[in-house]
Amino acid sequence: MSALPPGRVLGIVGGGQLGRMSAVAAARLGYRAHILTTEADGPAAQVAHAITVSQYDDHDALRRFADAVDVITFEFENISADGLDLLSSIRPVHPAGAILRISQDRIAEKTFMGENGIPVAPWHAVETRADLDRAADALGYPFILKTTRLGYDGKGQARIRSKADLDHAFDTLRPHPLVAEGMVRFACEVSVMVARNGQGEISTFDVTENRHRDGILDISLAPARIAPDIATQAQALARRIATALGLVGLLGVEMFVDHDGSLRVNEIAPRPHNSGHWTMNACPVDQFEMHVRAVTGLPLPPAVRHGDAVMKNLIGPDDMALWPRIMATPGLLAHHYGKAEARPGRKMGHVNVLFPAGGLPGEFGVNAALGPLARPMDKEGD
Ligand code: AMP
Repeated sequence: MSALPPGRVLGIVGGGQLGRMSAVAAARLGYRAHILTTEADGPAAQVAHAITVSQYDDHDALRRFADAVDVITFEFENISADGLDLLSSIRPVHPAGAILRISQDRIAEKTFMGENGIPVAPWHAVETRADLDRAADALGYPFILKTTRLGYDGKGQARIRSKADLDHAFDTLRPHPLVAEGMVRFACEVSVMVARNGQGEISTFDVTENRHRDGILDISLAPARIAPDIATQAQALARRIATALGLVGLLGVEMFVDHDGSLRVNEIAPRPHNSGHWTMNACPVDQFEMHVRAVTGLPLPPAVRHGDAVMKNLIGPDDMALWPRIMATPGLLAHHYGKAEARPGRKMGHVNVLFPAGGLPGEFGVNAALGPLARPMDKEGD
């Protein structure tokens, strides 16, 4: 596979912040980004060479978009199988549609992991109410019931504490089938970003430690504060998944680290990932450039990190009210997504704070560095 020459057009399906940051990375390498988006003035559209504004199931628009670009990638995973097939019949799509189909569906994802010897939490597919009873008996309480598709930021799932929760959860979570998952009493949550190109070169970023609030990623720390051999294992797992998928592109792999140090994969996302945003300031080649390089057939440099980093998401109106103070605080490296309206729970931007390599401070130091964004870091929201 020869590399796409500069000046050519990278088609990106999805107009959100991940598309925006991918488009900027593409422009740095001399490519033009053409965005397929539902929002004419969304985060990616604002920085793009061209846009096609349409719903993702409008086949005429998909055809026009594909005809206008040289290679297609995406930042938005929930495009239909039909739509993907149509795009792939016109232009190369990376990562391949088959990978998207696995990551879009928790049952397909967990089945794939099982077939490839990748550890996951115990799980059961739940099609009927009787399946749910059987899953509850097998898993014990508490456990988690999740939709198989379209779940994100903790939406589409319920924690089942006792038998009394079963009916309500089964009736409200849609569509069926659902997935019942054993509760992992993890020590921490981590993720690994891994890139692979068509030549089979792989680059793996250092492991990130993630903290959520109200089901949404709040803070990421790099490197994760886990034992070096566990970090090495986490990276090896991510590489194994990328290779088994035949990935061309970038993949975020979310994992739980158990108290005994064992790892279990929670989910994968075949695109840039919120927990990889620290790489934008802490790595010479960040996750977005790595993504663009992988899908355009460029060589993949090693995923070097030149310092430690903390990433803090800016969510909703409360965080955005702090924007003038963030701008006035030295050391807060801010990224604004260009969204007009700061609704509660909406990701509006993020800040990175850098530390010398090996110098990631403890909780108080991180809070001090976050200045106006400081908050107690040991408080999990959910
Ligand atoms: P998900 O939508 O699968 O990424 O889940 C969102 C969050 O719920 C995760 O980041 C975890 O904090 C929590 N969670 C999900 N699955 C489990 C599980 N099996 N055990 C414990 N916590 C979980």
